[in-house]
Amino acid sequence: MSTYKWVSIPAELAKNPRVTDCVRQEFLRRYPNWTGDRIPWSDRLCNVGINADGSLHNPNGYPEDVVRAAVLAADARSHERRSRAAKAAAKTRARRQEHKVYTVARRIVAGNGIGPRHRCFICGKHLEDPKSIARGIGSECWQGVLTQVSALRAAHPSASPTIPEIPAPAGRPAGVSGK
Ligand SMILES: [Zn+2]
Repeated sequence: MSTYKWVSIPAELAKNPRVTDCVRQEFLRRYPNWTGDRIPWSDRLCNVGINADGSLHNPNGYPEDVVRAAVLAADARSHERRSRAAKAAAKTRARRQEHKVYTVARRIVAGNGIGPRHRCFICGKHLEDPKSIARGIGSECWQGVLTQVSALRAAHPSASPTIPEIPAPAGRPAGVSGK
């Protein structure tokens, strides 16, 4: 169930006199001393929602079709917002992991590892087997590290290469930055 303290009236209904009259009446019920010509927030419904059983939460008695349309539109907007935020978070997570893979590969090429660790340096997952603990990288992430190591070795063929550090992506700190 979703209930909104305020929800905007879908544009195609906002000019309908049936709707505007109802919004005006509800406003004047709440503010009986209002003398202005214009009703503030006339494009919004107050305290409406759709209950879990599909019935309306509509104590102000707005037209039911308008309440339903307004709540469904607001639900769709907030769903859209949430899914956009989730996508952005996933992208940030992926960029951070990529950066960690690079950081580890760089250390390995330079002759240093990142282990031993009890959590995977890349994904943070708890490590169980001795091999993973020793290298500080779980088996799921290890292939990606090896691929990056090969790429760095190919790009820097000298025996003691100087591989540039790259800055961590913006946002939350990327965790351990090396020792
Ligand atoms: Zn991992």
